[in-house]
Amino acid sequence: RPQACDDAAPMIETVDLILPLEASEDEAAWKAAAAKKLGLPPTRVTGVRLLKHSLDARQRAVKVQVRLEVAVDEPLPDEPAPAWSTPPLPANAKTIVIVGCGPAGMFAALRCLELGMKPIVLERGKDASARRFDLAPILRQGTVIEDSNYCFGEGGAGTYSDGKLYTRATKRGPVARVYEILVAHGAPERILTDAHPHIGSNLLPNVVKAMRASILEGGGEVRFQTKVVDLILREGRLHGVVTAAGEEITGEAVILATGHSARDIYRLLAAKKILLERKPFAVGVRIEHPQPFIDAKQYHLKRDEPRPDLLPAARYAVATKIEDRGVHSFCMCPGGFIVPASTENDEVVVNGMSLARRDSPFANSGLVVTVEPEDTDRFAAEHGVLSGIAYQKALEVAAKQAGGGGQVAPAQRVTDFLAGKISADLPETSYFPGGNPAPLHEIMPAGVVSRMRTGLKLFDRKIPGYAGKEALLLGFETRTSSPVRIPRRDDTLEHPEVKQLFPCGEGAGYAGGIVSAALDGMRVAEAVAQ
Ligand code: FAD
Repeated sequence: RPQACDDAAPMIETVDLILPLEASEDEAAWKAAAAKKLGLPPTRVTGVRLLKHSLDARQRAVKVQVRLEVAVDEPLPDEPAPAWSTPPLPANAKTIVIVGCGPAGMFAALRCLELGMKPIVLERGKDASARRFDLAPILRQGTVIEDSNYCFGEGGAGTYSDGKLYTRATKRGPVARVYEILVAHGAPERILTDAHPHIGSNLLPNVVKAMRASILEGGGEVRFQTKVVDLILREGRLHGVVTAAGEEITGEAVILATGHSARDIYRLLAAKKILLERKPFAVGVRIEHPQPFIDAKQYHLKRDEPRPDLLPAARYAVATKIEDRGVHSFCMCPGGFIVPASTENDEVVVNGMSLARRDSPFANSGLVVTVEPEDTDRFAAEHGVLSGIAYQKALEVAAKQAGGGGQVAPAQRVTDFLAGKISADLPETSYFPGGNPAPLHEIMPAGVVSRMRTGLKLFDRKIPGYAGKEALLLGFETRTSSPVRIPRRDDTLEHPEVKQLFPCGEGAGYAGGIVSAALDGMRVAEAVAQ
């Protein structure tokens, strides 16, 4: 707690304040409150800089919590804008092949350059601009372009996503560096101070394009529509990869950052008898509510009372454990859209995204149940270590059949899911391909259905109406995380059996989200440099 100040000494102080919502963005109000807290006349506060901003919506009167750097009797020192640059590569720079241009691959490439190594990034999909045009057929005609969609292409699954940048890791050190690098490439500066930073799918493509420009300017390469289909393996060492066009690309090391939807890569590794492990994942549905309903519950608004302008679309998180399995909300998107995240034409997979403004009238979230490896045993005889992928795929194919065509998703009101009957009609949805009434309770595995039902009833107690008639379920949310881990040594981060193979990011089982994938990319690049 700052002390009342010495009358004469200029100083810089850090001050935490709790303010009314009206003062959320009001610098004059911050200055006045900081002066009061420091016991000074307001005229002596010469500048304030926001360090942290969060909302406390536990009471009806929402409060704003800010941490400020406060200058007294002297100007605030300038803070340089976050930047990313690197010296030119040495002539003898080692070449590192990076497969996948998602957050893990891109941050690995930038870190490689910082460490004097030349990254060659290979990406099966298209650059972010061309990729955008491939989202129209999946949304409008229900046709999936298998190498260019919501999961594959420049920026990976993170580009057309919700762009939430929350992470359980502390916001200091490497996490702060991830935010700074994003800001240096055009992300809004607010992500540096917001407690729940978010970018949005309208801004993300430009951020990843700017990151690609940095990789190229730093001396690296990025090749789109370059799908890796084979590995160059000799005597337990990986020398490079083979592309679908038959080109061999070699390097000192290969960072494999292909994400959790690159099932062909898991199959390739399994066929080459490269050690893989089963790991837990989660499956379920997208649940959608009208955003005003979630706002009213989370901000304690009266019936039909509009959300105050200064408040963002409200979010929520619910979680419980039922019969030894987690049941929880996943990747909640306030003011967002449900999108088809399928990567093949025989499946329907749903996920959520949003724009920076988060102003759609819908709130959607995954509602998922943990699946342990043993729950997938019935697929093990045929699929071995890839039994979890077979489990996911079975649900995705069932969703396609029950949806009835294209990317139409099987759908059910929550009340009907609980009662075990097909919905006579469906509420409006943000999911462009639409929903088709279907018995989700019969299509999903019984263990998932029973836990989801119990979970919904519990969550309805926490957020009354959560399991009400306006709540819609769309199937299925299967790509929460990878059902497979590509193991690596704790010390070198190399695969335990294949030298110079560095599994990385979400697909290898070491990340779950944009920031953690970026962190893993940087960490693996450092391990490669070692
Ligand atoms: P990916 O992003 O999956 O990238 C892997 C890349 O590898 C892809 O571009 C793919 O095309 C490429 N690739 C695959 N196979 C090959 C091959 N054989 N040859 C060449 N290239 C290949 N996370 C959050 O933190 N916040 C969110 O709000 C959020 N919202 C999401 C919304 C949607 C719709 C989706 C689909 C995901 C969302 N996620 C979100 C998850 C997040 O996007 C992922 O956790 C993250 O992108 C994982 O990063 P990655 O680099 O490990 O893998």
